[in-house]
Amino acid sequence: MILKTALDGLASVLFAAPCRICGHTLTSASRIPICENCLAEFERIVDPMCHCCGRPFVSVAVAEGRQPLCRLCRVNFYAFDRARSFATYNDALSEAIVLLKYEQVTRLGTWFADRLAEIVLRESDEWRADIVVPVPLHPERRRERGYNQAELIARPLAKRLRLRLESQLLVRTKPRPAQLVLSRTEHWKSVRGAYATHKSCKVDNLRVLLIDDVLTTGATLDACARALKKAGASVILGLTVGRVRSWDSGPAAATRRLKADISGEPDERPQHQ
Ligand SMILES: [Zn+2]
Ligand SMILES: [Zn+2]
Repeated sequence: MILKTALDGLASVLFAAPCRICGHTLTSASRIPICENCLAEFERIVDPMCHCCGRPFVSVAVAEGRQPLCRLCRVNFYAFDRARSFATYNDALSEAIVLLKYEQVTRLGTWFADRLAEIVLRESDEWRADIVVPVPLHPERRRERGYNQAELIARPLAKRLRLRLESQLLVRTKPRPAQLVLSRTEHWKSVRGAYATHKSCKVDNLRVLLIDDVLTTGATLDACARALKKAGASVILGLTVGRVRSWDSGPAAATRRLKADISGEPDERPQHQ
């Protein structure tokens, strides 16, 4: 304990780096450039939630039965079989995802991968998989950015779970529409049929862990799941770091829109729906 305090003290002097979210000096020798107060702002998504898509329920009363389903999952709305997210897409988490997305903070990708691995290992039977696939960017976008943020999470996750990473398997064939803000319906339309599997890749009867940074409407995971199932995959298990709970309201939405305007970079997720 004393040694740890001493090391933390030393670290804060040697690596006097500010927290990349709030700017306070980091006091502990953390693997990621985010302070403990900001980490505490991440709101983990816990039960009760839809057993299938992971949509959080507002009250326990709504979640009847042992494996409650939401309205959409009761009619098998989504093409994926399960989806879960680490935390609510609030201000702190959106800042962290911006770091991952625009500044390629890879250590943060590893930290998020560890959180997603916890979800998988908690129900290791239901979540058993053969391959890990990141949701791809359109090739043009990928070229512009130089990397795919979903892959920054998928790669360490695959390593942690000792699974094969298949980052070339899915391709986004249709770019996102140029308009900055998309309604929910437009978003669904924009991703419909936007993904395909690479011809040379075999997915017959495989269970796929599909990874993305944020789940908003579920449209992206759904479109990817359709393409993978068309190619023969048997089960699609979606995992995202963040999950948007109330898109149209709250300070986070305003911040995200502002950021989108400043960066001038339209994106399919999740700033512009
Ligand atoms: Zn902080
Ligand atoms: Zn559901």
